[in-house]
Amino acid sequence: MQHHIDAYAPITGKDVIEQLRQLAEPLRGMKVVHVNSTRMGGGVAEILHKMIPLMNDLGLDTHWEVIEGNSDFYQCTKSFHNAMQGNQVVLSDALLRNYEETNAQNAERLRPALEDADIVIIHDPQPAPLLRHFPDRKGTWIWRCHIDASQPYRPVWKYLRPFLADYDASIWSLSDFAQPLPHPQYLVPPSIDPLSDKNIDLPEDEIAAVRERFDIDPARPLITQISRFDRFKDPVGVIQAYQLATRFIPGLQLVLAGGGASDDPEGEAVLNEVYAAADKDPDVKILLLPADAHRTINALQRASDIVLQKSTREGFGLTVTEAMWKGRPVIGGNTGGIRLQVINHHTGFLVSTPEGAALRTRYLLNQREILESIGQKAQSFVRDNFLLTRRLGEYLTMMVILAKGHGDRVEL
Ligand code: UDP
Repeated sequence: MQHHIDAYAPITGKDVIEQLRQLAEPLRGMKVVHVNSTRMGGGVAEILHKMIPLMNDLGLDTHWEVIEGNSDFYQCTKSFHNAMQGNQVVLSDALLRNYEETNAQNAERLRPALEDADIVIIHDPQPAPLLRHFPDRKGTWIWRCHIDASQPYRPVWKYLRPFLADYDASIWSLSDFAQPLPHPQYLVPPSIDPLSDKNIDLPEDEIAAVRERFDIDPARPLITQISRFDRFKDPVGVIQAYQLATRFIPGLQLVLAGGGASDDPEGEAVLNEVYAAADKDPDVKILLLPADAHRTINALQRASDIVLQKSTREGFGLTVTEAMWKGRPVIGGNTGGIRLQVINHHTGFLVSTPEGAALRTRYLLNQREILESIGQKAQSFVRDNFLLTRRLGEYLTMMVILAKGHGDRVEL
């Protein structure tokens, strides 16, 4: 279900909505096109599904295009993703040629949509070379990086950088991620939609039905990680943490819920590692959910005592925000965007090892008042900082600056 901007007033207050309308006023009728590489799965698709209708509701003419490629293309772009997050990867010339060629083909297919756009926002490395095919561009082109690029593998960064340098601006989730580029850089962390199926309040009986469906015992504690099966999310480390914690918390249950993203070819191999690590423990539920299982994920997060996100690299970690919004303490990997959300000992715990995650799990499950109070602080931290409405304001401000600014003067 899609909401109008006014529907957010009860959460944010009317003034915030009024400010958004004022910010959008100079942009009314402008054509804005977002381009990424998947409509389903992963945080980028999650955000675009929510952000685009609200931009339209505010009077912009916003569109969403998706580039298409073959399996070699996604293998290559997944390697870019891994390399941008610090892994050493080897990419053959043939894969790189295919990457550039795929972008050339997509540029022709998308030309009618992109050539008259006022603002084009290209998400992540997959469609980055599109810009090369619009030498006489009319609009402002912005590259938006959702990845933890704090320590990219240099040979891959060296290859990608020339595709990015020509953009008019770039957006990064954290200052730690921003890499030197010859254009203005904006810092905009991601956000969640409090009215989406993923995040709205759910009736107790719906949560109970999800517990029953997955054979989760309501009388025993539950910890959960919701994530694509990706090694950077460290699902095997989560199982190790659970195995350590069960020594002290008998009856503990673990849910690892994930699904694939259509642009992620590595999920199956990681899933097999997860099955092997779980070793048929009946209290470890490995759930493969369809991409539209938003209410189910919402219910699983609410059914959990603690949510884990034990990533070893994380661009942001929307799953962290989602859990915190539901008042659940998060035990998160001490990395990337998780550090922006989890203030150690205050809105959750930051850990680096399965042992650390097990220790914090034990601590919180044995001290319910602390678990509750951290959950509440987590929720208000998200209310203040990571709701969609705040990000919308930042995007609109950036667009006004880029599209309407003249030198140092910005006309609002
Ligand atoms: N998600 C989902 N189904 C799954 C796994 C994840 O809908 O099986 C959602 C999750 O709730 C979150 C997003 O996908 O909204 C993942 O975003 P995040 O930033 O945590 O990680 P990414 O996948 O972008 O690395």
